Amino acid sequence: MKLSYVVDLKHEDHEWSAGIDGSSYVRDWGVFSVGRAFAVMNGRSDAGIRLRFEVPDGWRVSGSWRDIGAGEFAVSGNDDLSESMFFAGRHEEFKVRRGEFELLFAVGGPKASERKAELSKLANDVLNYYSGLFGGMPKAPPGASLDKILVVVNPGPSTDGEVIGNHISMILDTSGDPMGALFSRFIFAHEFFHLWNGKSFYPASTDEEWFKEGVSNYYTMKALRKAGVLTEEAMFGVMNGLFFQRYSNDEAYGKKAISEVSSGDDKHRHWGMIYGGGMFAGICRDVTIRKATAGGKSLDDVITGLFKDFGGSSEGYSRNELVSRIDKLSIGSERFLNDHVYGAGAVPIDVCLRDAGLDATITDGTLSVKRKANESPEEKARIAAMFGGSE
Ligand SMILES: [Zn+2]
Repeated sequence: MKLSYVVDLKHEDHEWSAGIDGSSYVRDWGVFSVGRAFAVMNGRSDAGIRLRFEVPDGWRVSGSWRDIGAGEFAVSGNDDLSESMFFAGRHEEFKVRRGEFELLFAVGGPKASERKAELSKLANDVLNYYSGLFGGMPKAPPGASLDKILVVVNPGPSTDGEVIGNHISMILDTSGDPMGALFSRFIFAHEFFHLWNGKSFYPASTDEEWFKEGVSNYYTMKALRKAGVLTEEAMFGVMNGLFFQRYSNDEAYGKKAISEVSSGDDKHRHWGMIYGGGMFAGICRDVTIRKATAGGKSLDDVITGLFKDFGGSSEGYSRNELVSRIDKLSIGSERFLNDHVYGAGAVPIDVCLRDAGLDATITDGTLSVKRKANESPEEKARIAAMFGGSE
């Protein structure tokens, strides 16, 4: 039996609520879509599905599936079909590879070739930091796959990012707005970090979303510092302007525990708590571990230890597993987390940053962070280890 149908690509003409706003769009140079928008599935997860695209002359197809040549893709089952995306058109394509791991970029728009050089450098720098930190590439749990990631980048009216499966679609505001450019790099580096923290290993319960999302933001910031695309001043600005403002203005701030608002729809309603407060809780524990071990250990040891012990397994880590690993490196951390993550106390980020050796204050709802005039050598080394960049 043969089924023919037409897919309407006017999706962008409608105001969608968050979450499904990027399922298809059309540009002068091509078409973006996600598997779930065009594939009709019969309910059976068939292996051995082949996809073939017939496109106009001069077009190419960048798809998230395994490329088997001659314009065909091999699909491993229904999940691979629905959790997928592609861009078909006259766009630029490039790969960043490490062994079996492939990051495939599809970059469209009038300035695609310029953007390609910049994205390639960013992807390589970020990948080098993450793979160096974890000592290897992502490890997929049984039945999953983390070895091919598609990143589609196109210009559009405002910066936006969306993730489907392991694949990332980014819309870049090309008006030259520096916040838009920073935001898009943040989305990319955050989602990329999830290939380890979130996909290779993951929490058993949503109570630990603070570690999956918030701590990923901390490492995203570190990655952008190392890639030379985030100055120290800009980082301190983002800590307040984005994270502290979203955190301290969250209606649950100081009233509910971060873990209490981390499940389902709450997670998106309380972005500030999980992504902001969770990041600050991670920074606080990093400072404490570094001080307790005279710089010998850090939050890196916690996160890489989870990768080592849980990476690629079908078992999520428990709250006790996470908390006891942190507490083991810095006695008192269990109490801190019980108070500020699993309890309603606000994360004292100004105190933690001062502990690190920075000049940090919260005045009139603003978190101000600066370097101190006379840092001790220990403070200087700690700040460099936590927030150091390429400069
Ligand atoms: Zn995330």
